[in-house]
Amino acid sequence: MTIIKPRIRGFLCTTAHPVGCAKDVDNQIAHVQSQGKRDDGPKRVLIIGASGGYGLASRISTAFGFGASTVGVFFERPASGNRTASPGWYKTAAFTERAKAAGLYTANVNGDAFSDEIKQTTCDLIEKDLGQVDLVVYSLAAPARQLPDGSLVRSTLKPIGEPFEGMTIDFNTRELRPVSLEPANQEEVSDTVKVMGGEDWELWIAALKERGLLAPGCVTTNYTYLGSEVTWPIYHHGTIGKAKEDLDRAQQALVEPMASVDGKAYVVVMKGLVTQAASAIPGMSIYLSLLFKAMKEAGNHEGCIEQTTRFFNTQLFGGGDLRLDEGARIRMDELELQPEIQQYVADNWSSVSADNLDALTDFDGYKQAFLEMHGFEVAGTDYDAEVEVDVAIELQAGSAD
Ligand code: NAD
Repeated sequence: MTIIKPRIRGFLCTTAHPVGCAKDVDNQIAHVQSQGKRDDGPKRVLIIGASGGYGLASRISTAFGFGASTVGVFFERPASGNRTASPGWYKTAAFTERAKAAGLYTANVNGDAFSDEIKQTTCDLIEKDLGQVDLVVYSLAAPARQLPDGSLVRSTLKPIGEPFEGMTIDFNTRELRPVSLEPANQEEVSDTVKVMGGEDWELWIAALKERGLLAPGCVTTNYTYLGSEVTWPIYHHGTIGKAKEDLDRAQQALVEPMASVDGKAYVVVMKGLVTQAASAIPGMSIYLSLLFKAMKEAGNHEGCIEQTTRFFNTQLFGGGDLRLDEGARIRMDELELQPEIQQYVADNWSSVSADNLDALTDFDGYKQAFLEMHGFEVAGTDYDAEVEVDVAIELQAGSAD
């Protein structure tokens, strides 16, 4: 038993709080329950990248909103010695306990989703326990991918063509620091596409289809981000933007295989939020701090769970018309992109400084969201109490542990 405090290095927090993570899951479940239980959604769901951000929220929305059985695939680290587990480990442990207590089938596969081995382990599990799946949510955000030939490729967050000059906020000192990045070379662009593009999504669907595990009418989704013009130099027009462009290609390539089971594939544009993956993007802290200020003042700020629940309830399974753009993507970022919200961001983008940080931005809200992601500053948690760092999760055989 030990007392756990946040330990922050750069954009990383190297500790996580098991009780705070569980409370965060409880808060997400409570939001879904506040929107009511429904019968018009999927009953058997596979989530690839199920332990953090949008993937975990998708799992909670479908389990507690539609009473769905869920299979979650993720890559998380258990505690070892005095070292805490990763936040996604604690959150999955809490989700599993809550879902099972509610009588919901829940199974977890921990390991490298890019590998054929984990794909087959997951397919075996679905075949044995669920027969087929009605929804496949692909929500992976990974720094690297091991290719079938054993080589490792890494994704990079770099501009393309021109250098990027921006600012970032130091988490501890609240000072603004310049960030400058040289443009990516061709190999860095293609490696990022290999890691964060659509190829692995296609491989998952091919593996499931080959085994006959896609139920009639099955839907598959993949989350993307387009964002605002101020972040385009580093995001949309950068290496990660190229990878996201590849999702649109993969979506087109999946139309036919999904149609063979009367199903559909969608790329879904989500709102910018603080997640493990997003906190690593240079300059994102300023953008999100300005965005949170504008959206909270307008009363339309959402977190991951509000986004995914609204997505399933009003779009994917809402029965009405889908909010599609010219690229056939479903838009869930329409509130972020409202002209008055973006005007506020654009007007203040170049004038943020350490002196006016609190007046112009919601850096405190950004920081709180970052800490909450690791189970810290979650209301109702006693951070002076000693807690057990070693929390067990029942894992599918074949998982890493
Ligand atoms: P996240 O870091 O919170 O979660 C990533 C998930 O992927 C975790 O469950 C993690 O365990 C899993 N994972 C990583 N590597 C893995 C591997 N090799 N094998 C198995 N699992 C692995 O990320 P997130 O921000 O929720 O991102 C999910 C998706 O949503 C991404 O496509 C991202 O681009 C997209 N998105 C994010 C934002 C945002 O602002 N955060 C906005 C729009 C879209």
